[in-house]
Amino acid sequence: EAKSTGRGQVKFFNNTMRKKLKTHADIENDLQHGIEHNEFELYFQPIFTILDNHVIGFEALVRWHHPKKGFVSPNDFIPIAEKTGQIINLDLHLLDLAAQHISKWHQQGHRFLKVTVNVSSRHFASLDFVAQVHAIYNKYQLPLGSLCLEITESGLIENLELATQIIEGLSPLKVKLCLDDFGTGYSALGYLHQLPIHILKIDKSFIDHVQDSTNPLVEAILSLAKSLKLEVVAEGIETTGQLETLQTTHCEYGQGYLMSKPVPAKEAILLINQPL
Ligand code: C2E
Ligand code: MG
Ligand code: MG
Ligand code: MG
Repeated sequence: EAKSTGRGQVKFFNNTMRKKLKTHADIENDLQHGIEHNEFELYFQPIFTILDNHVIGFEALVRWHHPKKGFVSPNDFIPIAEKTGQIINLDLHLLDLAAQHISKWHQQGHRFLKVTVNVSSRHFASLDFVAQVHAIYNKYQLPLGSLCLEITESGLIENLELATQIIEGLSPLKVKLCLDDFGTGYSALGYLHQLPIHILKIDKSFIDHVQDSTNPLVEAILSLAKSLKLEVVAEGIETTGQLETLQTTHCEYGQGYLMSKPVPAKEAILLINQPL
């Protein structure tokens, strides 16, 4: 009971709890306001060919410019939005935003550029998502194949049948599905061949162990991907040593601070120096 503990301790405990609850509730309240007032911005991190450093597209990563808190990292609000269910609206808002950029870039002549957007596995629990993505494609007249969606493994496995239907519903748009953070979470290899996905993104934690010599786990993932005919992106490449090693193991695509951190749209497009 509270009385039996020291007074200071009770007070400390209460304040900490109150503060935590308040931040959580604040963010929950502020999320909806933030969507309505355009406080979210997409940053873009290039995805490039490991062999010759050619940018093929970008991953869109959300940034929140909170009116009072300033810059809030996605790690501080995505998990809360997931819990409250607000992630559905937030993701749709960000998909709309990403589509605006894709449409503009393609009009500017970057006709082969692909943008990959992170979406919650919650979308894969209802067929609504198919209509929602089709609506965005129509609204911005997006070129087929210009959008890719990233999702983590667990979400697909929990709803395998429905997820398959949803991905089939998106296939006329040539939307590709990328399994994010591959190797963490379930890593249910037995399911991998059943998942209707096109791309594996090897988690940074594996790439961290690639330095001058290759990581046997990364090699295993690469050969697995090859036999399942999946494309592979190595996430979180920070050193030239890692890049060189990944070149020798024939990993096709990469992403990481070595090439570029996620940057605002205007800077991102400057990273494409390929002739059109
Ligand atoms: P993720 O999708 O796995 O994104 C990769 C994260 O690693 C990003 O963090 C990126 O900035 C960071 N990163 C990339 N390269 C490097 C590197 O070389 N070194 C290091 N140390 N980090 C690197 P960020 O932007 O903070 O996003 C964190 C997570 O938040 C994302 O992980 C994703 O799960 C989630 N997220 C971000 N944007 C969205 C969004 O628009 N919608 C949803 N549903 N989730 C999002
Ligand atoms: Mg991602
Ligand atoms: Mg990831
Ligand atoms: Mg992640």
